[in-house]
Amino acid sequence: MRPLGVFASIDAGLGVRLDVAHELGVPTVHLHSPHRASRTEANAAAFRGRLEELGIKISVVFAGFDGESYADIPTTQRTVGLFPPATRAERLAELKEIADFARRLSTEATSYIGGPAPVGLHVGFVPHDADSEGFAQIVAATQAICDHCAPHGQAVHLETGQEPAGVLLEFLAACDRQNLGVNFDPANMILYGCGEPLPALEQLGGHVRSVHCKDAKWSDRPGETWGEETPLGQGDVDFKAFLDVLDKIGYQGPLTIEREIPQEPDRQKAEIGSALELLRSLG
Ligand code: MG
Repeated sequence: MRPLGVFASIDAGLGVRLDVAHELGVPTVHLHSPHRASRTEANAAAFRGRLEELGIKISVVFAGFDGESYADIPTTQRTVGLFPPATRAERLAELKEIADFARRLSTEATSYIGGPAPVGLHVGFVPHDADSEGFAQIVAATQAICDHCAPHGQAVHLETGQEPAGVLLEFLAACDRQNLGVNFDPANMILYGCGEPLPALEQLGGHVRSVHCKDAKWSDRPGETWGEETPLGQGDVDFKAFLDVLDKIGYQGPLTIEREIPQEPDRQKAEIGSALELLRSLG
């Protein structure tokens, strides 16, 4: 069975604390990058020590930026990732710092792959027209972060959801970087109304280098309004079939549960516990 994981946070992002990940008994985490002021060498050393003590390894470090809002689909398109032109250069610079911090967190004992943990992000709304200027600009920004990471053997994972799989494939081809892959989130495909998740997963195939196990129900106006995120097993993702497609595409990495309701920590822990049971039962 593939190793299980959860999304964890230090001081930024909506994941569980590391001690909760430990209580849940998972061996891997996706980690939300901490705030800039916390990305010090002293904090990196302390966090590496804590990971070693708990026997937990990081499989991806996810970047987030001030000013991002997932309030609704148009706001997400306007504010998230490297798409907004006004903040692109500044965010790209910060993304490089986050990638550097991810490397500082990564040792043989603390990184799932043993080397520099990949950096993941919502690149933002990739224009669906590959001939548009916006498309070319996001390609250039993505190439820049890939080229920053490549000399260190570090990968970049793009979170799915804001575009159909075909557009993402076109985007990956345009970027043309060996260290660029996909973090597949089946629920995002539903939430954003960008296509049935399982055919999309199959279509993305070998580009998939990490996954989020998250569930959701379709909106009655897909692509215009959000679908609804649900506890794992209660939404429209068929997780048995999801695992079968992962087998088919040869994905053997961690299954990382994402359930972001930190305002209700007891419910968050209980629901992640049930999700772990479900994934274990599906083998
Ligand atoms: Mg996700």
